[in-house]
Amino acid sequence: MGAVRTPLIAGNWKMNLDHLQAVAFVQKLHWTLKDAKHEDGSVEVAVFPPFTDLRTVQTLLDADKIPFSLGGQDLSPKDSGAFTGDISGAFLAKLDAQYVIIGHSERREYHHETDEVVASKVQAALRHGLVPVICVGETAEDLEKYGASAVPVGQLKTALADVPADADIVVAYEPVWAIGSGQAATPDQAQDVCAKLRAVVADTLGADAAERTRVLYGGSVKAANIASFMREPDVDGALVGGASLVVDEFAAIIRYQK
Ligand code: PGA
Repeated sequence: MGAVRTPLIAGNWKMNLDHLQAVAFVQKLHWTLKDAKHEDGSVEVAVFPPFTDLRTVQTLLDADKIPFSLGGQDLSPKDSGAFTGDISGAFLAKLDAQYVIIGHSERREYHHETDEVVASKVQAALRHGLVPVICVGETAEDLEKYGASAVPVGQLKTALADVPADADIVVAYEPVWAIGSGQAATPDQAQDVCAKLRAVVADTLGADAAERTRVLYGGSVKAANIASFMREPDVDGALVGGASLVVDEFAAIIRYQK
């Protein structure tokens, strides 16, 4: 099954690196990865800079022919209009962004994004030809009360409610307790929930979609644990926060060996 899905290693910079730092970072990462397997397409690398960096990073990727994909960290559910401070999917698409992270737990927590808001953002991404990276995951409290999979499964069902079967999506399982904590899920835990999330894709979008959709694990991924996650059959890559800001560490994650 795994062979049909190109692994995706995605760096979520969060609110780090201004546009000048972004240039230095991307150049250094590209240089460090010379001869790495992403050059031959066997691993896809994506970076998710802050909005104010996107134009600069896009120009650099384009000018230096750097084979990284680009994404936004969020988008508005609306396409244009009187929404002060918001960024539309149309703007991201115009910058050649291919991806957009939706429903990250920090958005859900600090911006009170509900599952319904997440679903409307998924629709906005698809309207503009962007691949939504749909983040789901349980808090420590949810884990205690309901176990690991109930909350992320429910979140994904709502997010996929009106998504067409042929849509290109990425799912990221990010247990909230594992994000930035240094305490990653075990590979077994990640596999178990990622398999259940793939089953949700199968139930809502069909078997073909489940077969081609990449399901990522995120939460304290680093060079020392990436291989253990990538060995799992239903983990197709990683959404990396803190470790994506350190060139050598992120490069080592991209170069993981099974
Ligand atoms: P982390 O963050 O790798 O720093 O745990 C992951 C994420 O929030 O996407």
